[in-house]
Amino acid sequence: MTALPRGGAPAEALTEVEASIEDRWRSFLAEYEVTAGTKEETDLAESVVADTSVFEWRVVDAAFDRLTCIDCGNGLGAGPVGCEKCDQANGFRFAAIETDRPATPPGTEHGLRVATAVARTRHRYGARARCGFELGLPLLLEGELPGTAQAQAYRATINKLTEEECERVTSFEEVTRLSSRRVR
Ligand SMILES: [Zn+2]
Repeated sequence: MTALPRGGAPAEALTEVEASIEDRWRSFLAEYEVTAGTKEETDLAESVVADTSVFEWRVVDAAFDRLTCIDCGNGLGAGPVGCEKCDQANGFRFAAIETDRPATPPGTEHGLRVATAVARTRHRYGARARCGFELGLPLLLEGELPGTAQAQAYRATINKLTEEECERVTSFEEVTRLSSRRVR
């Protein structure tokens, strides 16, 4: 499980999403009659990452969690930017199936999936990108998708913060509060 240095609602949301990833993997193993912790589980994970486009994103993320990059030694897709194997794996990650939950705007599940990937492999992204995606996690988990104008407004206020502030804030309200104090 990923410990998010940022506390508050984003950390709680990530814990909840990660639990859903693990739940989905357990039922996936059951479907294939595979026992956790066996070589068959690793084989199954490898077959998932070989063609991510036919599996749900939670299954794909769980599969990556169970594999190690032979080049950098990190979780597959979770190594530093520049590890070719991880960069490639991370690209395939986003080909997975994203099914919007009932009564949520189209694209919400995509947003949740991307925000989760950013929060779980945060060293692959800059402080401002991390800030926007991680603060968005609780909303997306609740089934809310900020519109384009709203998202742009969030980005504009995040851009007014220092990188240190970006790492510390735990809500968009806090971002607004900090940025409104700033004279530019
Ligand atoms: Zn790697």
